[in-house]
Amino acid sequence: AAKEHKKQFKAEIKQLLDIITHSIYTNHEIFLRELVSNASDALDKLRFLTAGGHDVADADAPLEIRINADADAGVLTIEDTGLGMTADELVANIGTIAHSGSAQFMKEAEASGESLDNIIGRFGVGFYSVFMVADKVVITTRSATPDASPMSWTSSGTGSYTMQELDGDAPRGTKIEIHLKEEAKKYAEERTIKDILHRHSNFINFPIMLADEQVNTQPALWREPKFKIKKEQYDEFYSFLTLDQTPPLETLHIAVDAPVQFTSLVFIPASPSNSLFDNPDNYGLDLYVRRVLIERKHKALIPEYLGFTRGLVDTEDLPLNLSRETLQQNLLVDKIKTTITKQVLAQLAKLTEDKERYAQFWTNHNKVFKLGYSDYINRDKFAELLRFNSSTDEDAQGLTSLAEYAERMKEGQKAIYYVSGPSREAVRLDPHLEIFTQRGLEVLYLYEPIDEFIMDALGKYKDFDLVAAEQADIGELEKFETVDEDEVKPEALNEEDAKTFEGMLSAIKEILGERVEDVRESKRLKGSAACLVTPDGAMSSQMQKYMQLMVK
Ligand code: ADP
Ligand code: MG
Repeated sequence: AAKEHKKQFKAEIKQLLDIITHSIYTNHEIFLRELVSNASDALDKLRFLTAGGHDVADADAPLEIRINADADAGVLTIEDTGLGMTADELVANIGTIAHSGSAQFMKEAEASGESLDNIIGRFGVGFYSVFMVADKVVITTRSATPDASPMSWTSSGTGSYTMQELDGDAPRGTKIEIHLKEEAKKYAEERTIKDILHRHSNFINFPIMLADEQVNTQPALWREPKFKIKKEQYDEFYSFLTLDQTPPLETLHIAVDAPVQFTSLVFIPASPSNSLFDNPDNYGLDLYVRRVLIERKHKALIPEYLGFTRGLVDTEDLPLNLSRETLQQNLLVDKIKTTITKQVLAQLAKLTEDKERYAQFWTNHNKVFKLGYSDYINRDKFAELLRFNSSTDEDAQGLTSLAEYAERMKEGQKAIYYVSGPSREAVRLDPHLEIFTQRGLEVLYLYEPIDEFIMDALGKYKDFDLVAAEQADIGELEKFETVDEDEVKPEALNEEDAKTFEGMLSAIKEILGERVEDVRESKRLKGSAACLVTPDGAMSSQMQKYMQLMVK
């Protein structure tokens, strides 16, 4: 046999292994979910290759996952007929090169406290979870590349691993032999394995054979007729897909025949979409062509502002041998995206009828959703789905739609007014609001920079202009009667006071010089001594601040 090479794990990997093997609050059984999902990924990749007409070793081998357990010896093996790994791939994928995900994983692991169950599969570190239960792991792998040599890899998950090229031939794919730790021997019992597979791997798209019996029962849920599927099955599929244990807020099962044939499952998570913001590129729906996985999180299937959704699309209408690059500009993909966008927006519109649940959606996903101001075609629908805090809400948690504002408007009111600031407290101190309060006019409170971009992009809601309070036409506001009954009408100044006042204005003007355009007597202030106003047609002051921030 060829020489055995001993290699050290990269420092990051050692650290990672240390975190994973010592995380006592993590449910150890998830190692099986991770290894089965890797086997399934490898089979998906192989199927993608053969569908594209590439030559592979053992072209006739069935695509499946085999699990065998020897309870007495405490050894478990998981075998797939997937893509396999060449010597270089083995080094690159398992061992030396720290994936970009491992740093992110460690950050999340720290933030999530004790249990790694839900994050371990997300950052390209799932394989290492096997060392929670194993004191030795042997990988035997033979790449699908026709002339590749079979390889073996052995490690106890501490500091190093050994690699060796094997003599002779071996079947295509990867076999993982797990020598269980004493306290983890139960994972070599068939009943236990079966239970775990049912819990975590029921929806795997390839047969999982445990001692010659297929244990996964529900492939391709999205291809089943809707009326046959129970809510629990959708929820179960969602948690299989996302590792999120909280059932989704909404589930859409879409089946369309024209202009493109496709079926799709789209979920709106009930959990916050934080990670999308840490990594804005991390969105999209999984794309299948005739049940062959083409790409996970394919971005062209959903606009960025609906990127908080999770799910998949399966179509009959695309050729299998399409490259991922040409997919980006594919017209059919574009049509699928248009249909899904419409359906998600319609579903959200329906959800608004349930205020509490809609508020949950809004709180969790508004940061991403607000990017929708750039979707020109669906702008009206988008506008209806927006929520803002308002002067008529009781507290900062209140949510008001533009429609609700419009309904509450005073007769003759032509605009929807808003004011920006970091918080409700700060906004309420804004002197520009005085006249609105005095006249009983509602004002929307905008707390985030993007809100002002939205108002700017929309320009109007129905026939009403969207206007920043500081840019409001005072004459227009003065048309409305004051609602403040104790209001003291300002007395006209006597001649002498008027002179003093004139003098003061010119003194201020002189001091401020070119920094301002003009200094005028205010007709709108009551409780405040002075305020800055923006000339007509200029950017609001808040907007100017954001622009300055961006230029810096
Ligand atoms: P992820 O699956 O998220 O990439 P893992 O730590 O689970 O992260 O696996 C790391 C890599 O090891 C995979 O991306 C893949 O390249 C390789 N790998 C793991 N298991 C297999 C397998 N059964 N067949 C082929 N490659 C595998
Ligand atoms: Mg994995």
